[in-house]
Formats: sequence, structure tokens, C-alpha cells
Amino acid sequence: MKPEEHNGASGPQRNGGAKRNRHHDDLHYGLSASEIARRIDPKARRQGKAFRVRCLAHGGEDPNLAIADGEKGVPVFKCYSRDCSFEEIRAALATQFGIGIGPPPNTGENRERKPRGGIAALLREGYKQVAVYPYTDEAGKPLYEKIKFERRNGVLIKTYRFRRPHGRGGWIESLGDVRRVPYRLSDVIAKAGQILQDCEGEKDADRLAQLGLRATSLDELNKVDLSFIRGESVNVYEDNDVEGAGMRSGAPRLTIGRSQ
Ligand SMILES: [Zn+2]
Repeated sequence: MKPEEHNGASGPQRNGGAKRNRHHDDLHYGLSASEIARRIDPKARRQGKAFRVRCLAHGGEDPNLAIADGEKGVPVFKCYSRDCSFEEIRAALATQFGIGIGPPPNTGENRERKPRGGIAALLREGYKQVAVYPYTDEAGKPLYEKIKFERRNGVLIKTYRFRRPHGRGGWIESLGDVRRVPYRLSDVIAKAGQILQDCEGEKDADRLAQLGLRATSLDELNKVDLSFIRGESVNVYEDNDVEGAGMRSGAPRLTIGRSQ
């Protein structure tokens, strides 16, 4: 069967048994939104950041399925016709087009997701430094940095490393017994009185801070000095997982908590 011929209107025998029972090994992983869309429809139109094709999951004829590149190299989908689920769309892509979504299970790529070694080792392996998040004390003096690295190898692999200044112009690549603080601490103190916005990542905290909000990112609460915000009400933003959120991936979800 040529994929272009599939329109969902014919019987189930259109998808031969070989395709229905595809093993993960047979699927093509790591495709971008544009590559997936073009496989479904070589003339797929781009609309903003998304490509529009017919929805394979419910067998629609109109280009009601939007596909966009998502976080961690996993595309996101939105069916504007019947709101088909991520799992339904993923299954349809696998059986009808041999396209795998997400990191393939039990493969080298998957094992590679937690790379070892220091910063030099990461750079040797082709990782690129994409962000540096400085953690400072009350006065803005650097305590340590969190550095984000990325490498694309079929899937996008992200990893983080910490380092702290050793006081003679260089760095030690560990946190050691450094004092752990809330991200953007000096700003958090300067804006005391405003409600604190706790983001899952530093990038989102920086974004909210640009909007004038009092923003931080708290991680490993048992190790971080929370004395500056103890007893405060905190807005906690969590990343939506790609699978549950469809096109809203990356949008923060707001819950209200209170710091201990
Ligand atoms: Zn659909």
C-alpha cells in the first residue's frame, strides 16, 4: 500500500498484517514535524509553527491535524476535528507510515539519554552549551552555575552540569558543599512582598522575571536554603508533559502551594 492512498475509508485489510504488528525496530524515529507531515502529505501546508495534514487517527479527509516540533525532540499533535489523543495519533503514524514518535524503547539512543562525564567530555561528544543559569547569593555574588547542554542524535538529548567558582578564576565541576539557593535569589529578595512564581526550569523563571514577576526555580527543596521564602504562598508552575498536553506542550500549569 502506498501511504498516500490511505484515506481511512477502506476496510482494515488495507493495512496489511506486517504493518499492523510493527515492532519498534521497524519504525523510523527522530523525524521532525515537517518530515512527518511531508511523509503523510508531500504538499502539507505550514501554518505558523505547525504543519497541517489529515488526521490519520480518525481517518479525516481535511487537514485538521497540526504537527509541530516539541520539547525533547518529540513532536506534538493537535487534532482540530475530534481532538484525537496523542496515543491514537502515535499508533496511527506507526501502523500507517512506520513513523515512531518519542525515543525508541531499549535502544542505544535511549540509553544515551543520561550522558556521563564532565563538561569537556560532553563537548568532545558533540554536545553544545545552550544556556548558563547563574545562582547567586543575596548580594548577587556568584555561588554556582547550572549549564545546559544539548545534542541531537535522532532524538534531542539534553543534559545539565553544575560548576562553582574556586575563587582563583576557574571552576570546579561539582556543587560540593556550596550553599544551595533559590534561582534568582537577589531578585526574589528585591521583590519581597510580591507573590513568588516557582517555575520548573530556570528558563521559564527568567521569562516571568522579564515580565516583572518575582520568579524562581526551586529544585531539591531539602538541599536549598528556603529561609528567604519560608511560609510564603507560592505559585508553582509545572511543565505539561508532551503526551498529555498535545499542542499545549511547554505551557506551564499552575498549582498553588505553600513553602514549608
Ligand atoms: Zn483526529
